[in-house]
Amino acid sequence: MGERQRISPSQRGGSGTVSPAEKGRARAVALDHLRDHVNRGHSRIASLLGLPLEVRSSGALVYDEEDTAYLDCGGYGVFLLGHRHPDVVDAVTAQLGRHPLPTRALIEPNVASAAQALTSVAPAGLQYAFFVNSGTESVELAIKLARANGCRRVIAAEGGFHGKTLGALSATGNNRYRAGLEPLLPGVEFVPFGDAEALKAALASDATRACVLLEPVQAEGGVRLPPTGYLRQVRELCDEFHALLAMDEIQSGLGRLGSWWGCDEEDVRPDVLTTGKVLSGGVVPVAATLATPEVYEVLNQDPLLHSSTYGGNPLAAVAAATTIDVLRRDRLVEQARTLGGRLLPQITDALAAAGPTLIREVRGRGLLIGIEFTSEAPAGLFLTHMLRERVLTSYTLNASRVIRLTPPAILEPDHVCWLLQSLERSAVALAGG
Ligand code: PLP
Repeated sequence: MGERQRISPSQRGGSGTVSPAEKGRARAVALDHLRDHVNRGHSRIASLLGLPLEVRSSGALVYDEEDTAYLDCGGYGVFLLGHRHPDVVDAVTAQLGRHPLPTRALIEPNVASAAQALTSVAPAGLQYAFFVNSGTESVELAIKLARANGCRRVIAAEGGFHGKTLGALSATGNNRYRAGLEPLLPGVEFVPFGDAEALKAALASDATRACVLLEPVQAEGGVRLPPTGYLRQVRELCDEFHALLAMDEIQSGLGRLGSWWGCDEEDVRPDVLTTGKVLSGGVVPVAATLATPEVYEVLNQDPLLHSSTYGGNPLAAVAAATTIDVLRRDRLVEQARTLGGRLLPQITDALAAAGPTLIREVRGRGLLIGIEFTSEAPAGLFLTHMLRERVLTSYTLNASRVIRLTPPAILEPDHVCWLLQSLERSAVALAGG
């Protein structure tokens, strides 16, 4: 499976015919510059794996310098709408031709309508939205709002991931990324994910007001689903102990799990919610922190308590608002649920050849699917087999035994076939040593 798709020179960007030697040179130059000016380790891995350049993308496909198509089931969970969704591209292109960046001196209407659109699909009560440029920044603001509301403790979950700026990192339950950077933000504690009793004990141990910061499903933690009822218990405990509940829905939200939000699964309304990734429409980086009027009041009273030169710029705002329109209009949340429901057993079957000595479990919800291997080595090998099949998957930051699939909701039947056959062939190759 996996057609090689040729594109015309005009689609390619008008450079006319490019010789194989020139293409090889472009790759060598990129690797050299990456090594000398971006990151030596990245460059070495890219070179060892023989990774191609990514040149263009459309829908579920990404094309390399040879115009070979790759099925994108990775992309850090961003591309639920696929790459360059046409409606988002049109809206952003029109805005680019009108007014891309704000003055901050006048009224910018796009950020206002994006906030209205986003809060209209958010869990009830989250009336305000502040747009930023990345997920980690939205977590920084969540922590700041908690602080400004008197929370001097953050209780986060072991294995959770919230980003790599210092505040968000301090709540990320993986020591590997914290090594050498301690002490980080004071007052952060960790409890086991999915264990309501442990959370209760932590809340009861100290009368200082706390903010509980959680993902509804741990994505980078290895696609870990909490026991049924856990999120509801967390909400009840936060109410009992007067703690704020901040849900990090950067990876789980906006349809990825087959519901608008992971916390919808248990009808839980957080006080603060962070979102990003899918919000971009696969076009412009954007994230946001949402909050209830009560929590947001500190910003309403002092609008300069938080600000950002680029946060909520017109391009990002238009991308976000159009993404929400498309999710609604094309019923992509429902589609993610249906497609994910079909894919999970199909993926489990396709991987049967690898057997229980190599694969411990296939699990997921909606279009967030994790394949847990029995150790790190086969997981890494599997990723390279899938690359040979021209299917892009993701490693998992806090659980290197787990390979993640985050396909778009717009997968066509032949893409599904391509994915399943690639999984099957990779499992056979792995089992054969
Ligand atoms: N929170 C969660 C749950 C994430 O999955 C991620 C990224 O993977 C982040 C925060 C950080 O987002 P970003 O990489 O956009 O800073």
